[in-house]
Amino acid sequence: MLTKSNPDEIQSFLSDASHMRDGRAERVVFPERAEEVAEVLRGATRAQTPVTVSGAGTGTVGGRIPFAGIVLATDKLKQIRSIVHEEPGGSAVAEAGVRLSDLQRFVESENLFYPPDPTERSCFLGGTVATNASGARTFKYGPTRNYVQRLKIAFATGDVIDLRRGELHADAGGRIEIPLISGRSIEAQLPTYQMPQTRKHASGYYVAPEMDVLDLFIGSEGTLGVITEIEVALLPRPEGLLSGIVFFKAESSVLSFVSEARDRSLTNRRPRDGEVGRLGPLIEKALEVSVRQTGQPIVSEDATSNAIDARALEYFDSESLRFLRQKYETIPVDAVGAIFFEQETTPTTEDSLMTDWLSLLEQHHALADNSWFATNEPDQAKLREFRHALPVLMNEWFARHNQRKVSTDMSVPDEAFPGMLRFYQDALQASELRYTIFGHIGDNHVHVNILPRNDDEATKARDIYLRFVKRAVEVGGTISAEHGIGKLKRDYLRLQYSEDHLREMAALKSAFDSAGILGRGNIFDESYL
Ligand SMILES: Cc1cc2nc3c(=O)[nH]c(=O)nc-3n(C[C@H](O)[C@H](O)[C@H](O)COP(=O)(O)OP(=O)(O)OC[C@H]3O[C@@H](n4cnc5c(N)ncnc54)[C@H](O)[C@@H]3O)c2cc1C
Repeated sequence: MLTKSNPDEIQSFLSDASHMRDGRAERVVFPERAEEVAEVLRGATRAQTPVTVSGAGTGTVGGRIPFAGIVLATDKLKQIRSIVHEEPGGSAVAEAGVRLSDLQRFVESENLFYPPDPTERSCFLGGTVATNASGARTFKYGPTRNYVQRLKIAFATGDVIDLRRGELHADAGGRIEIPLISGRSIEAQLPTYQMPQTRKHASGYYVAPEMDVLDLFIGSEGTLGVITEIEVALLPRPEGLLSGIVFFKAESSVLSFVSEARDRSLTNRRPRDGEVGRLGPLIEKALEVSVRQTGQPIVSEDATSNAIDARALEYFDSESLRFLRQKYETIPVDAVGAIFFEQETTPTTEDSLMTDWLSLLEQHHALADNSWFATNEPDQAKLREFRHALPVLMNEWFARHNQRKVSTDMSVPDEAFPGMLRFYQDALQASELRYTIFGHIGDNHVHVNILPRNDDEATKARDIYLRFVKRAVEVGGTISAEHGIGKLKRDYLRLQYSEDHLREMAALKSAFDSAGILGRGNIFDESYL
């Protein structure tokens, strides 16, 4: 097994997109099979050496940054093992180190579709499962969790399990028992908190009454085991796509447009009689998870729908547009906000859907003539690039000003969102700090990025961040909707959950990893172990 310890060679494994500083490790190991992962973990437990699991390092909360011990890199677990067609969709089996963009390209070449789409697609599949990643398409399709059917996981003890959705459930008292090949079993108690009723959630371990044990590992941020192989459900590839970046002259028009597009989409995608049952067992299992988690069915045969049903609704405020103008000079000068939308089409629905969207835009006073629309793949890629450019431009800004990102990832329940957005805007305008607000408005989940120019402003930014977190929790929201907690946000998790809940999480982790070697410092402070 390849091992690197030369400081120059391992440097890139000591950071991630959070830009947390001072990461350090003795060495980085690159196992090529689950058995090698197990061997590393067994040895590390014996020697009590901390192990930090590394994906592609696109995480924004310091989850893969080590502060001692070794890094277990998943880069060499990079095989796509199989794709199975099962009308109308299918499934794929891939190792943890497969790049999401590679998996998606491969799946699409088979005329299938894997919906999870974090904006940064250079991440690894294993990283997306460990963080329950989501993205723009989550508005229609839900997060990564909905598609995970089976996981191969290596535990700190060196035991490896292959767990399929539906095989193991928690009992009514929240106890779980996982039989191991050795004849032993792992017994653990789930934490007693209730997860917030938001459309997205990635803060702490997933818990639900009598839940599928598979769900515990999705979003566990490298603390319970190392995911080595993943089977995901696939949908049929949509035939066509209509996308647009549409600009508005008034903020109130942006919000009224979103509200109507959102309501019509949610109404139109309710399952119609006889619809469930036609989708194939794998997809239906994925949909069941979504319904349980969000209370919202995502079922639709909507590649063929002729009604407005956005799969993505993404927001850019006026400050975001100011940022983007550095790169995109053609953004209309009078635009103060924009929405990126996508809707799936077929050759027969494309024209009528375009007419519907244009009429909706007109009704909400969009700058339709100066907006951008795309119906073919190259143009669509340019629009997605526009969406991706914003976090990238901001990351460059932080690096230039030698400042750490102050960036929110909260989402709140539907009814709380308008008030939350006003709260963000009022506080930020009063602060005179530079900021942007953008992101997944369809899921009540916008990212506020505060851009401090010096250390004083950074202190002020962190105070405002804290006020935002408190308000999100007060209105029933989650402190992380998609990026996870990692090391950067663990202190804020205390505002979401009580001390007892944090101890329950730590006790759960200890049941899998009694020496506390895996993902130390992720989700909760090491002192809880
Ligand atoms: C510009 C930009 C935009 C982004 N947009 C989004 C977005 O829209 N939605 C979103 O959800 N995220 C987004 N992210 C965050 C990031 O891309 C996701 O969190 C992604 O899932 C991380 O994957 P990774 O492979 O890079 O994981 P890493 O950063 O390497 O690791 C993330 C965490 O997962 C653990 N881990 C990794 N692999 C495994 C494994 N095989 N087994 C167990 N634990 C493991 C690590 O220990 C760590 O705790 C964005 C990031 C950037 C930089």
